[in-house]
Amino acid sequence: MNSFKGGTYPPKYKKTSEIAIEEIPLPKIAVVPLLQHVGSPSKPVVKAGDIVKTGQLIAEITGLISARIHSPISGKVLVIEKRLHPFGIGIESIIIESDEKDERVEFHPKDITKLFPNEIIDIIKNTGIVGLGGAGFPTHTKLWPPKDRKIDSVILNGCECEPYVTCDYRVMSEETEKVINGLKLMMKILDVHNGYIAIGIKNKDLIEKLKDKDIKTISMGSKYPQGAERQLIKTVLNRKIPYGKLPMDVGCIVHNVQTAKAVYEAVYEGKPLYERVITVAGSVKEPGNYKVRIGTPVSEIIDYCGGLIGDVKKIILGGPMMGLTQFSLDVPVIKGTVGIVALTEKENKIYESTNCIKCGKCINACPEELIPTAISWFVESGKYYELANYNPLGCTECGSCEYECPSKIHLVQNIRTAKKLMKTLKY
Ligand code: SF4
Ligand code: SF4
Repeated sequence: MNSFKGGTYPPKYKKTSEIAIEEIPLPKIAVVPLLQHVGSPSKPVVKAGDIVKTGQLIAEITGLISARIHSPISGKVLVIEKRLHPFGIGIESIIIESDEKDERVEFHPKDITKLFPNEIIDIIKNTGIVGLGGAGFPTHTKLWPPKDRKIDSVILNGCECEPYVTCDYRVMSEETEKVINGLKLMMKILDVHNGYIAIGIKNKDLIEKLKDKDIKTISMGSKYPQGAERQLIKTVLNRKIPYGKLPMDVGCIVHNVQTAKAVYEAVYEGKPLYERVITVAGSVKEPGNYKVRIGTPVSEIIDYCGGLIGDVKKIILGGPMMGLTQFSLDVPVIKGTVGIVALTEKENKIYESTNCIKCGKCINACPEELIPTAISWFVESGKYYELANYNPLGCTECGSCEYECPSKIHLVQNIRTAKKLMKTLKY
């Protein structure tokens, strides 16, 4: 099997993979941020006092890269104001009070045999689909590359290389047909005949389930970050993306498996994106995989899961390697939220950093072939002019270097600082 250089092997903690998806009750109040995607924030098309239905358009696209937003519940718009966002800042959000009826707008399924690729793209755009693996790039934009990029392959990413997170495994297992047919829609749009679904090596049961004459299922190694786009493409197609380039520059488009399911539901069922499956794991009473409405506060989800257990010191949205640590449980689930992980003091040991012992482990672990120790050192010593020689902007913030570092140096934090310095000081 092809592989990629570097990486690491954090423990998996994937017990929730055995737990079937369960639907969480509607939130009493949904907090729907106007920014849940890469690009410009959406613009509200409702105002305080408006009555909305589940699936109704509540915010419209602005600019070239943006996404529509639909109401996750039926009820009344209370206010549009800044609320704390998982990114750690206040973002304008539409606050909707549930009427507990979950009254839906009418969905309009389409006959796929009568649709041209541009019409499928319009459906995807109109239903507000963005990448559900965490990045949140608007899907309609990704599926419409410039004409000079010849795409020959679409890969669905089902690797879930982050510890704890198992929601994609459950979706592939329980909603297999939707995932496969969502991928086929993407292949139809791009006029591509090579479709791949990349799965974790431990999930061999999926190979039989996902069997389809038009699609190849690839079992990936357990190395982290196997699910990162650049590493995934290297492993599946043995193509290396040059620094500063995109997957489409090497003829490939990567989507998450839940994005494929959402595309299927948009086209075949006419359903907008207003819910997703997440994993709740770590120190909670009833960990599992839950279908939740976008805008549900994290606190309500944790309550539904029986609450936290033990001395929880850290709540992460996403996995522990690349997820976002939260200051407050009032933040809502957004389209890109893959999970909620609660860690106790023991599970999340905060180590004091000690001096670099020049062991080189961070260099060996870096999948982008950077020298993390050097970047970190130049930031700490104020020798910013050296940074341009070490390409900190090439860092994907995967965390492999820091995970491997025996001196527990805060490499990722220092590299983030280096990236900011490169942009602001224009080195
Ligand atoms: S330098 Fe960046 S890309 Fe390399 S291992 Fe560290 S976090 Fe990952
Ligand atoms: S892994 Fe840590 S101790 Fe080893 S060279 Fe890198 S920064 Fe230094």
